[in-house]
Amino acid sequence: MSDVDIDPTPGTARKSPRLGVIGSCNVDLVVRCRDLPRPGETIIGEDLRRLPGGKGANQAAAASHLGADVSFIGCVGSDSDGDWLIESLRNHGVQDDLVKRALRPTGTAFIIVDDLGENEIVVTPGANEELIISDIDLLQFDVVLAQLEISGAIIEEAACRSNSFILNIAPATAVKQETLESCSVVIANELEANAVDLNSLGHCIVTLGAKGAVHYRYGREIARAQAPIVDAVDTVGAGDVFCAAYAIEFARGSSPEQALRFSVTAGALATLSNGAQGALPSQSEVQGRLARENSIKVKPRFHIQSRGELC
Ligand code: ADP
Repeated sequence: MSDVDIDPTPGTARKSPRLGVIGSCNVDLVVRCRDLPRPGETIIGEDLRRLPGGKGANQAAAASHLGADVSFIGCVGSDSDGDWLIESLRNHGVQDDLVKRALRPTGTAFIIVDDLGENEIVVTPGANEELIISDIDLLQFDVVLAQLEISGAIIEEAACRSNSFILNIAPATAVKQETLESCSVVIANELEANAVDLNSLGHCIVTLGAKGAVHYRYGREIARAQAPIVDAVDTVGAGDVFCAAYAIEFARGSSPEQALRFSVTAGALATLSNGAQGALPSQSEVQGRLARENSIKVKPRFHIQSRGELC
């Protein structure tokens, strides 16, 4: 846990938490078509859209917009796609000096979406699989945030070498139990949460889509927040914004209730625009929405234990 001094009053200037986001960085190639192609079938789609993506980069960009001092730790190819993704991170205000370059091609996701919103996705991780973090001092960060689009070995190493490690277990992938237990906080959506034993986790946040999120402490609910009602346009990336927001609130030492309220509001605002790195909500937009909802009640500070004992 950071010892950043906190003023929980909404709208007051607070020191920016220092966040390291470890994860994937991909080019998303998106084509819309009427129906998904069957095996062997060739179909005609709409114009190709090329978007920056990867859950790691999405969360880093979101955290930067929400006011954190963010470094992205990932690996892209030594190709023009890699240049473009690094440029995109910079445009979001994310520091890129810890981004590695590899000889393998930049990770790419091929995404086909039909008129009903169903999709087929092929991800070629490429350079993401070349990420090495052994030379990076993770203790420089108040919080390190990671997801599961990178290798399990990197996740295990990061969990052991961080002050406070928050793991978003998305996309659903097996993680060693001892790694999960060594996290300061595990964040899962409802489906991903089915794969973990909540009773074994000191702090687990389960997101519930439009219903908000719940904080479990060894299986017991200790906080819950409803998401504000919004006219959601696109829920892709809402979970990434939620995780970024939660990592910031955790670093600030906010109460469980306050951290959840800020995060569900950030996640809800993220549904108002298309794409995972579209119009990402800012800290003041989230605080403004919270104030309008009249849902901020200043609570006594509550310190979450920084991490488990295992590493
Ligand atoms: P994921 O996108 O990872 O599956 P969820 O669907 O649980 O995660 O959404 C994460 C967060 O995004 C929620 O806790 C909520 O704050 C916000 N959110 C998602 N969908 C909606 C929605 N339809 N209305 C309001 N908020 C939403």
